[in-house]
Amino acid sequence: MECKTEGPVIGIDLGTTYSCVGLWQQQQNRVEIIANDQGNRTTPSCVSFKGSERLVGEAAKYEAALNPTNTVFAVKRLIGRKFSDVTVQSDIKLWPFKVTSGSCDRPKIVVRFKGEEKLFAPEEISSMVLVKMKEIADSFAGSATKNAVVTVPAYFNDAQRQATKDAGRIAGLNVMRIMDEPTAAAIAYGFGKESDSSVEKNALVFDLGGGTFDVSLLSIKDSVFKVKATAGDTHLGGEDFDSQMVKHFIDEFRRKHGKDIGGNPRALSRLRTACERAKRMLSTTTRTAIQIDCLFEGIDFDSSITRARFEELNIVLFRSCLETVKRCLEDAGTIKESIDVVVLVGGSTRIPKVQKLLQDYFNGKELCKGINPDEAVAYGATLQAAKLSCQGSEDVQSLVLVDVTPLSLGIETKGDVLTVLIPRNTPIPVKKERIFTTCYNFQSAIDIRVYEGERARTEDNNLLGQFTLDGIHFAPRGVPNINVCFEIDADGILNVTAEDTSTGKKRHMTLMNVDRLTNEEIELMIEDAERFKAEDEENRRKVCARNKLESFAYALKNAVEERKAVKSMPHVHRESINRVVKLVIKWLKHKELRSEHVYERKLEELRNKCLPHVAQMYQEYYVDFDDEDDVSTRFDQLRIGYFTRKPKTEGDEGEMTD
Ligand code: AMP
Repeated sequence: MECKTEGPVIGIDLGTTYSCVGLWQQQQNRVEIIANDQGNRTTPSCVSFKGSERLVGEAAKYEAALNPTNTVFAVKRLIGRKFSDVTVQSDIKLWPFKVTSGSCDRPKIVVRFKGEEKLFAPEEISSMVLVKMKEIADSFAGSATKNAVVTVPAYFNDAQRQATKDAGRIAGLNVMRIMDEPTAAAIAYGFGKESDSSVEKNALVFDLGGGTFDVSLLSIKDSVFKVKATAGDTHLGGEDFDSQMVKHFIDEFRRKHGKDIGGNPRALSRLRTACERAKRMLSTTTRTAIQIDCLFEGIDFDSSITRARFEELNIVLFRSCLETVKRCLEDAGTIKESIDVVVLVGGSTRIPKVQKLLQDYFNGKELCKGINPDEAVAYGATLQAAKLSCQGSEDVQSLVLVDVTPLSLGIETKGDVLTVLIPRNTPIPVKKERIFTTCYNFQSAIDIRVYEGERARTEDNNLLGQFTLDGIHFAPRGVPNINVCFEIDADGILNVTAEDTSTGKKRHMTLMNVDRLTNEEIELMIEDAERFKAEDEENRRKVCARNKLESFAYALKNAVEERKAVKSMPHVHRESINRVVKLVIKWLKHKELRSEHVYERKLEELRNKCLPHVAQMYQEYYVDFDDEDDVSTRFDQLRIGYFTRKPKTEGDEGEMTD
């Protein structure tokens, strides 16, 4: 294997609701899951636009209730999908932010940013989350990380994988591999397990996250992880369980107060947040309260929900998970009794009813909860990144993964029928070729339409792309030989070519006109991302300058209100300081951020006007006001008696008593 990757490598689990990043630590030969600036090891996959500021992660999630229409979440449910997709249509009804249809039926997220309406592709929003995860890793690594393995649900189709890869490119990452989430989790489970590693084990990974559900059946032996089958639903997870509860409480509110909160984004957003919290509580308690002040038109909402009611609301969805498990076993040609271990991954596997249904299905088998369901995917992705970059030790380098393609792939042939070239659950990478011919005499061109899916008629499957092979050898029908080649790379991404074997004329499929962003669009988004990065940096500096001025103003205010100041500072000085400080505090209430220099000038003015009077008051103490940077800290230290009294004569070092 060719290994050229220099520098730190990372694994990113880009989740619907939360994302997680792992850094490979070459020296220690281990994965480190990195905590964000708030100390949390998972970060909300959420982006918020506030005036001219762009917030990502925890700060954005906090904004959801305050600024619901401009706070974007769950874009993983949009990525690689069409706007007219029924799931997109049903999701957007419950989201407080707006989604519209862009060119080629692509969904676009609409927000107000910098005073104007701006449209973002799901890839762009995902790239912002990826940049955040990269930055979390950068700050821990102490240098910029560039090379990453990014995970996707195993059941993601070609368009969704391509779009995720594009998001990585927009984020400035070198996406070494797109990896399936359950496979990553299986590695996290199986890696380094000493016991009986030479005996083949069948592991079923049950991955129920925030927005997607995957089941994969793998065989694990030594360091070889072979996926036998995968099944799933790219639109099932915690978000749906939240939605069921949201609907339940909307109905309750209507019954109790005769009002519909459905059309109010702020109320919806606050209710959704409360429901998610309640759902988590119900994993450990049997009843929990929901209390939201002034939810709608000044009405407080006060209610409760039991675990039994929550289960009842979601039982159809929970049961559908078992159907997927059965399908996966069938596809792998195996029975449930042959499963050695059932591994739980994803935050929603903490729901007791989900665990119970699964355990009952496997005849009471103990479920494996030994790996952290929130971190396992990022952990496995990081191990894969270490392997691909040849930074792992022998045990890591000896890992072998054999993934499969989740959906059948083929082309449309006469009668609008799907002719499959690569059946689902074929191990990848894979290359399959087949000869086709013309339907009419002297046909000069044929259209190759590429589909994915399991249905017989093409109209029931998903069109991935199409292209025309022209200049075909002039001959009666059935004579020309058109060789169609399907190739799936290790990322699960498809490349299709068609060639007239007699003329040697060849064409590739481009997905551009169907789902994928064009190269030019991606380049523009990369430029935008660079600009956003520079703007974020500028914003950070502005906020920092603003905070410095604010804390100085408050420190002055506190200093002149102190007993010592009241006693020793002339009234006129205190009054004049109070006046200017009040003006500055009022001025700071202005919502829009001003430039860094404006804050610095204001700080300078304030300092020049007030500091001499205050410094005079403290002159008998050891205070060095030259160090202006942390003068507000010094005020605080003075107030809590941190400094000692200035010795009047040598040796006289009385403690500060005031
Ligand atoms: P993941 O995508 O794996 O990070 O899973 C996130 C989902 O798990 C979100 O929908 C969370 O609400 C859900 N979740 C996390 N913890 C719990 C819990 N204790 N009980 C129920 N759901 C949870």
